[in-house]
Amino acid sequence: MTSPRRLVVVGAGITGLAAAFEWRRRRPDDEIVVLEAGDRIGGKLHRIELAGHWYDTGPEAVLARVPEAVRLIEDLGLGDRLVAPATTQASVVLPDGRHPLPAGTVLGVPASADGLDGFLSADGVARVRAEAALPPLRLEGDVAVGTLLRERLGDEVVDRLVEPLLGGVYAGRADELSLAATMPALAAHLPAAGSVLGAAAASRDAGARSRGDVDGPVFATVRDGIGGLPEALVASSGAIVRLRTPAHGLRRTATGFELSIGPVAAPELLTADVVLVTAPAAKAARLLAEVAPEAVEPLQGIPYASMAVVAMAFPAQDVAAGSGLLVPPVTGRLVKGVTVSSAKWPHLAGDALLVRSSVGRFRDESQLQRSDDDLTAAVVADVADLLDLERRQPLETRLVRWGGGLPQYLVGHPARVAAIRAAVAGVPGLAIAGAAFEGVGVPACIRDAHRAVDSLL
Ligand SMILES: Cc1cc2nc3c(=O)[nH]c(=O)nc-3n(C[C@H](O)[C@H](O)[C@H](O)COP(=O)(O)OP(=O)(O)OC[C@H]3O[C@@H](n4cnc5c(N)ncnc54)[C@H](O)[C@@H]3O)c2cc1C
Repeated sequence: MTSPRRLVVVGAGITGLAAAFEWRRRRPDDEIVVLEAGDRIGGKLHRIELAGHWYDTGPEAVLARVPEAVRLIEDLGLGDRLVAPATTQASVVLPDGRHPLPAGTVLGVPASADGLDGFLSADGVARVRAEAALPPLRLEGDVAVGTLLRERLGDEVVDRLVEPLLGGVYAGRADELSLAATMPALAAHLPAAGSVLGAAAASRDAGARSRGDVDGPVFATVRDGIGGLPEALVASSGAIVRLRTPAHGLRRTATGFELSIGPVAAPELLTADVVLVTAPAAKAARLLAEVAPEAVEPLQGIPYASMAVVAMAFPAQDVAAGSGLLVPPVTGRLVKGVTVSSAKWPHLAGDALLVRSSVGRFRDESQLQRSDDDLTAAVVADVADLLDLERRQPLETRLVRWGGGLPQYLVGHPARVAAIRAAVAGVPGLAIAGAAFEGVGVPACIRDAHRAVDSLL
């Protein structure tokens, strides 16, 4: 492409805005229009003011070892705003009490039975050790994480260790999530290793070797909130953002595309030379029905989990919970995790105890039907109990609901993604990217945005 062009991005989440930013760097003279159905930019990136601080109620940390997010923040000139955690020691709440999360696992999958004493029962540890005596593992096709691990390492590893970690990342369930999609490195090492423990060790060591910085911080955040990045991205990309402007139709023309946008009853037509769709899967399916019909069914096969996040400021007091607590379903608790933000992040330490907690898992969203006040009160009570707070009355609370918050990479996900990618690749000038495909984390979304820009250019 040489002459000035119009790129239309559907969706102003991190994927769409990172793509706009990258496009501007590479094509300074093009027009970039970002269509956003909602009334603000950022999608899942969102910050509020809590006890005098900017406080994230969407993503609150980015993996520093997947470099795309940290690099983007630096490219925006905000490198001096990056903050490393003061502590990353988290604990898991189990029916028999609270236990520090064992070190050296791959998303909860242990590389050996060492270090699991006390976290698992004696029988549970023996069950892990016994994998060595099982026949070599042969997998055909994708499988649920839970199915494989229950068979090879026993139920306790799943219920006590893997479920809380996968619950934290995907709000999903180990018994439904795809091994190949949620643990691709481990899955890739399975054939040669022949065992889960061996594959976990190999994938952990390979990760350490390729990074070469095993001692660097694993996570980072931004001093005034990850939720501040969307504004910076829009300003730097010079994109024209149109809020409250959903795209609901897309068709090809002789020279490019035509989108039907705005109110369905009185749509406006917008032409584009290239189009990048970053809306969540169900919305993307509707949009692609005419231009890439083969993408529709696999897109509809990617469901989402809904959740709510409650941000709380309590009077300053000591809590001994490290960076926070993971709370798996075996505890029967309402909340699924507690982040002690004022202990985790040095810039949030001060005259209040800042905590956030989330509720809602895939196929277990009934608690989200409660009213805001009722749900907030129940979460506050659960958190005060879990953290053993002396001063249990919060100074401030905020509830943020995330309907359709996180896509679920169910068994067969990689095949679904391949089918979607193939269908979209058949339409020159069209790309699709976002959390639904190859990673829900912010760095993975940015990587997917860059992949999409590459494909369009
Ligand atoms: C509560 C929560 C906590 C999280 N914590 C972390 C974390 O700590 N670290 C981390 O790395 N990740 C975290 N994630 C995951 C990560 O934030 C998301 O996966 C990521 O931000 C998704 O970005 P996206 O741009 O792909 O999608 P979205 O943010 O969903 O953006 C898509 C946008 O498209 C818009 N849209 C939809 N339909 C249309 C249409 N027809 N026309 C125009 N616009 C449309 C939507 O309104 C939305 O703004 C968290 C997610 C949630 C929900």
